[in-house]
Amino acid sequence: MLHRFERPQSIAEAARLLASGSWAVLAGGTDLYPAHVGRAVAAPLLDITAIAGLRGIRRDDGGWAIGATTTWTDVVRADLPPLFAALKAAAREVGGVQIQNTGTVAGNVCNASPAADGVPALLALGAEVELQSAAGSRRLPLADFVLGSRRTARREAELVSALHIPARAAGARSVFLKLGGRRYLVISITMVAVLIELDADGAVAHAGVAVGSCSAVAKRLPALEARLAGRDAATLAACVEPGDLAPLTPIDDIRASGEYRIDATLTLLRRALAAFSP
Ligand SMILES: Cc1cc2nc3c(=O)[nH]c(=O)nc-3n(C[C@H](O)[C@H](O)[C@H](O)COP(=O)(O)OP(=O)(O)OC[C@H]3O[C@@H](n4cnc5c(N)ncnc54)[C@H](O)[C@@H]3O)c2cc1C
Repeated sequence: MLHRFERPQSIAEAARLLASGSWAVLAGGTDLYPAHVGRAVAAPLLDITAIAGLRGIRRDDGGWAIGATTTWTDVVRADLPPLFAALKAAAREVGGVQIQNTGTVAGNVCNASPAADGVPALLALGAEVELQSAAGSRRLPLADFVLGSRRTARREAELVSALHIPARAAGARSVFLKLGGRRYLVISITMVAVLIELDADGAVAHAGVAVGSCSAVAKRLPALEARLAGRDAATLAACVEPGDLAPLTPIDDIRASGEYRIDATLTLLRRALAAFSP
C-alpha cells in the first residue's frame, strides 16, 4: 500500500514537504521501483518530476549545471562541448533506451551503486552536487557526496537540485570506456573516465581520471593524474603504472574476479589515454 504521494511544482514546496517527515524522493524510478519488487514502498513518495526548472543542462557562471530531473536521453541529445564526451558515452551505456528516457543523472548519483555508470565520468569532470532544503543550499564535491555503496551525504530533508561541472578550455575532452559481460544492458565489470585539458603547446594542463566498479565508491587516481600533468598528448598511454590503481579495492563476484578487474582496468586506462594522441 502506498501511504502518501506528492508531486510538488517548486523546489520550495518540495523542501517544505521534505522538512515535514521522512520521504522517498522519486525521479525516474528506475532504481527506486526495482528495489521494491514484491513489496510496497514504505515511505511516502515525493515525485520531483513536475518541479519547474529542474530539467535540462544550462551554462552558469563557473561552468554547467545539470538539473536534477535531467534524463540520460537529455544528456545524449544536448549540444555540449567535447568536455562532456565521457558523460554522453556513459549515458548511452545506461540500461537501454527506455531506461535512458526515464532515468536521471542525479538519480544515478543518489542511488550510489558501486557500478553507477555516471559517477566515474562526473568525478573525472570534477562535478559538485548541489543540495537544497528549507534551511538553504550547499554544494559538495561529488567525491564527498558518495560515501559508500548506497550511502550518500544527503540529509533526509535535502533534495539534490543540480550537478555542477566546472568550465574548462574549449579543447578539453573526455573519454569513457566500460567493460561488461556483453555489449548492452549490462552491469559494469570496470569502467574508466578520463578528462584531458591541453595547454597551447599540446601538453597536459589538467587531467581527471576515475574508475568505477572496482571499489565501493568510484575513485579518482591522483597519482596518475599528477604524472600526466605536463606530458605531451602522444605519450599519455605509456604513463599508466600498476601502482596507480592502489586506491581501488575490487571484489571477486559473479561478474569477475578482483584480479581480472585490475588487469582490465589497466587496459581500459591505456586505451582511454591513447585516444588523446594527436
Ligand atoms: C533494466 C535496468 C537497467 C539499468 N542499467 C543501468 C546501467 O547500465 N548503468 C547504470 O549506472 N544504471 C543502470 N540502471 C539503474 C538506473 O536506471 C540508473 O541508476 C538511473 O540513472 C537512476 O535514475 P532515476 O531517476 O530512475 O532514479 P530513481 O529510481 O528515481 O532514484 C534513485 C535513488 O535516488 C534518490 N533520488 C533520485 N533523485 C534524487 C534527488 N534529486 N534528490 C535526492 N534523492 C534522489 C531516490 O530516492 C532513490 O533512492 C538500470 C536500471 C534498470 C531498471
